[in-house]
Amino acid sequence: MKRLNRNSNDPHKSTGNDAVSRAPEPKCGLNPMKLMGIFVACLMILSVLFSVSVIFNDPIYESVWIGAEARVLEVNPQPEVRGSQDDSSHPAEVPKDKLLGGLLAAGFDERSCLSRYQSVLYGKPLSHIPSSYLISRLRRYEARHKQCGPFTESYNKTLEQLKSGKQTGPSDCNYVVWVSFSGLGNRILTLASAFLYALLTDRVLLVDRGVDVADLFCEPFPEVSWLLPTDFPLTAQFSSFDQKFVYSYGNMLKNNHFANSTKVPPYVYLHLAHDYDDQDKLFFCDEDQSSLQKVPWLIMKSDNYFVPSLFLSDSFEQELRKLFPEKQTVFHFLGRYLFHPTNQVWGLITRYYQAYLAKADEKIGIQIRVFDTGAGPFQHVLDQILACTLKEKLLPEINRQANTVSTPVKQKSTAVLMTSLNSGYFERLRDMYWEYPSTTGEVIGVYQPSHEGYQQTEKQMHNMKAWAEMYLLSLTDKLVTSAWSTFGYVAQGLGGLKPWILYKPENHTVPNPPCRQLMSMEPCFHAPPFYDCKKKTGVDTGALVPHVRHCEDMSWGLKLFDNEK
Ligand code: GDP
Repeated sequence: MKRLNRNSNDPHKSTGNDAVSRAPEPKCGLNPMKLMGIFVACLMILSVLFSVSVIFNDPIYESVWIGAEARVLEVNPQPEVRGSQDDSSHPAEVPKDKLLGGLLAAGFDERSCLSRYQSVLYGKPLSHIPSSYLISRLRRYEARHKQCGPFTESYNKTLEQLKSGKQTGPSDCNYVVWVSFSGLGNRILTLASAFLYALLTDRVLLVDRGVDVADLFCEPFPEVSWLLPTDFPLTAQFSSFDQKFVYSYGNMLKNNHFANSTKVPPYVYLHLAHDYDDQDKLFFCDEDQSSLQKVPWLIMKSDNYFVPSLFLSDSFEQELRKLFPEKQTVFHFLGRYLFHPTNQVWGLITRYYQAYLAKADEKIGIQIRVFDTGAGPFQHVLDQILACTLKEKLLPEINRQANTVSTPVKQKSTAVLMTSLNSGYFERLRDMYWEYPSTTGEVIGVYQPSHEGYQQTEKQMHNMKAWAEMYLLSLTDKLVTSAWSTFGYVAQGLGGLKPWILYKPENHTVPNPPCRQLMSMEPCFHAPPFYDCKKKTGVDTGALVPHVRHCEDMSWGLKLFDNEK
């Protein structure tokens, strides 16, 4: 589901995971020193605005800069990467393959982000082996991030260019800024897509904090933060960047900006959200990529896993083949590389895992996401869950006749982890296996960590729980997910699982079949372009190459596969 997820109150809330120390925010007051300070600040703002308007001499940028907050840069010459605060009590155990076969860099402070090196303790090594080329490119990216990240000399220089509009030749470092937008599952998928785009184009990824990014994820790159500094001049405008924004790539094309001007614009906004139009979609064409190549700042807003369309580009194709010889591992590797729960979220995950899941012989995850309007639980959804899990023999039938009492002999135990905004499905399944014995004699425990009722994007703990639940689902042995849900895609991708997907019900009726097992663990790109850039005509982009095809759960979506049809 694609929804706006910005907090208009304070998008730059400080957290313990912030790698950058902050200058104190100015407060209001009327003493003479403060008045003098305000006066000097006003002069600075005016001088910046004046130089920008003179030098750009381009009306399309004026209104942005008039609205932009011109604040003095925070100074922290050696930003230090830290995890969240809750890091003192846990001994940092060091598992064997804590670096996931070289995917992760060594040398992070383990206590500041326990999940980074402890994930393998929870029974989840990688499901495939990353290519040595991917590993070397990640190390190269990390070196580049260290050279170009926030507050480095190169960053300060490129930021100056953005502020002044003075282009003093090609910049040493170019950036892609990911804007926090939409539900958490969507955000995780778009962040992975933006990172892959940064890898392919030699850009540095910087991340808008939104309301909660630093509370959810540890820093993924050594030494230099991935968080966009709070004084980045365009941040205040991010919420107004939308499809109609005049400086979006699509609108700049419509205004012939690139055709009429040889000047490289200081930044371009890439609108890659579900409502993007044909011009915005030209982003995926090679010719357009060369127009964008020299632009130092690309600001990207998306709620789509757009990776499959990158595989259709001639200019990226060869590199992608070397990075990912197995196509369906893209999100699995990038997800495990980038997304490490902060210590607070790791606490939610590990306490729940140990209390309810660890001792079971088998762990089954069931993720229920209902896109229908109206309060659930719905009978047809419950019927579908049962039809799928019983038919596919993921769960045993119950014996309504027998009233047997289990013998003290150890039976196979199965823990079912359910996640849903609603508690109704969990209660019905739990009661079923409580009231009747299973025909196989196995003992079934059914658990659901939260039932938040509805999507509450502004609540900090809500998103922490959502993240913890996606991660817990990824730790199961077999997974059932709901069609169209990015929440489920994240779980399957992190866990390296091919889930059984519950088809989306129409007219409150159980689909037939109710579910099927996926052939690829990759997420689905829900709103891909259907355009042949070379022939300049519409085309079915799901029929061009064997490894980019339509998704099992959404007929118009695109997805990466390894196996032939
Ligand atoms: P999608 O809408 O299913 O694609 O997934 P998103 O994660 O992008 O957006 C749904 C949002 O609703 C989540 O981020 C959560 O905030 C909330 N949500 C949906 N299902 C659950 C659930 O099972 N558990 C929790 N804790 N939150 C959920």
